[in-house]
Amino acid sequence: MLICNWKMYGDLQLVGLYKKNIPYSQNLIVCPMATLCSELKDTFKVGGQNCHQEKEGAFTGEISPLSLKEVGCEYVLLGHSERRKYFGETNELVIKKAVTAKECGLTPIICVGSNSEDIVQIKQDLIQQLPQDSSFIIAYEPTWAIGTNKIPSLDHIDQIMQWLANQGFSQKVYGGSVNSENAQDIHQLCQGLLIGRASLDIHSVLTIGKSLEIWN
Ligand code: PEP
Repeated sequence: MLICNWKMYGDLQLVGLYKKNIPYSQNLIVCPMATLCSELKDTFKVGGQNCHQEKEGAFTGEISPLSLKEVGCEYVLLGHSERRKYFGETNELVIKKAVTAKECGLTPIICVGSNSEDIVQIKQDLIQQLPQDSSFIIAYEPTWAIGTNKIPSLDHIDQIMQWLANQGFSQKVYGGSVNSENAQDIHQLCQGLLIGRASLDIHSVLTIGKSLEIWN
């Protein structure tokens, strides 16, 4: 599984480049800004980057999970560290969003992470963020690895992925400074990768996708 988080980048030109250059794969999920989801949904599996914890209401400026579903999204990223940091999203709120999103027919991808590099501390941090429902996809993203070109050792990733498996989560994804060089090795340790900056570059998406064999 390769999840492309465009963040607040990307436009109709990037939509066109994706459509022209990247073949469909059921293992490729594109998460653009909500305004672009309907443009991509006929060509790729699409996910939102966030949604509200309620299905509808007087919440000006928010995005309903029902609406994401209606415009063709199958997935939604929730609790990305940028949402937690800049928008004050708490563990409780993220879980509530995930439950509502699932009720609306979306598959939530819950992003969890820690500032720490210490495995014991990381587990303590993650346990606060994990949902009860182990059917959710969990994206483990060390906050210090997002957007920095720093990645944990493979042993670190392996330990956390195995620990997540022991907590009952079978769908685990790694995110944080994945690129065409490190993607294959990291992917051996989990079920998928979440890419941010690399998802804005068609060549990187193609190279990473090939190394994950998403078109085989
Ligand atoms: C992300 O936004 O979740 C992410 C992993 O970003 P990057 O790949 O740029 O580190």
